Amino acid sequence: MPSAAGLFADGWYRFARRLDSPNFGARPEGAAIDLLVVHSISLPPGVYGGNEVQQLFTNTLDWDAHPYFKTIQGMQVSAHFYVRRDGALWQFVSCDQRAWHAGPSHWCGRDNCNDFSVGIELEGLEGESFEPAQYEALAALAAAVAQHYPIRQIAGHEHIAPGRKKDPGAQFDWALLQRELAWPDDWFPPAN
Ligand SMILES: [Zn+2]
Repeated sequence: MPSAAGLFADGWYRFARRLDSPNFGARPEGAAIDLLVVHSISLPPGVYGGNEVQQLFTNTLDWDAHPYFKTIQGMQVSAHFYVRRDGALWQFVSCDQRAWHAGPSHWCGRDNCNDFSVGIELEGLEGESFEPAQYEALAALAAAVAQHYPIRQIAGHEHIAPGRKKDPGAQFDWALLQRELAWPDDWFPPAN
């Protein structure tokens, strides 16, 4: 196991495949990076295995390639990480920078969760289940991030933007993730 310092270089995780997104900015001065936000995404929704998510996050998606893409045309978004169905891990934005994954959001008394969070997208669809390889990759990544940054909470996009977002959805197994991470209850969203 490499030391925590060796896991990241300038916020880039050594075990992720790097693809730089232009969609990021500076975090506010002195922001503590203490929240992990779990998302799900697939493009078109429910279709797995292509490169459209990477294209979206790098502003290279062909909006004419699918009718659904018209509904998100012009969106400039990103996440720090993307975990494919087979557990393969990609990184688009340095964790030291602010990625654009949460949108209007609120968690535990603070707004604008992008300021202080690391965003992790799982290839998937809200309402559908996720693969064992994704939980394995997510747990390893979350543990690594928490070694290097002062993570104290993890939540879904649905928790920080209720009513507006539904990912990762009811089939995401928070209990399994908690068993793998052995983090305390109050780091996780309240059970519902
Ligand atoms: Zn999301």
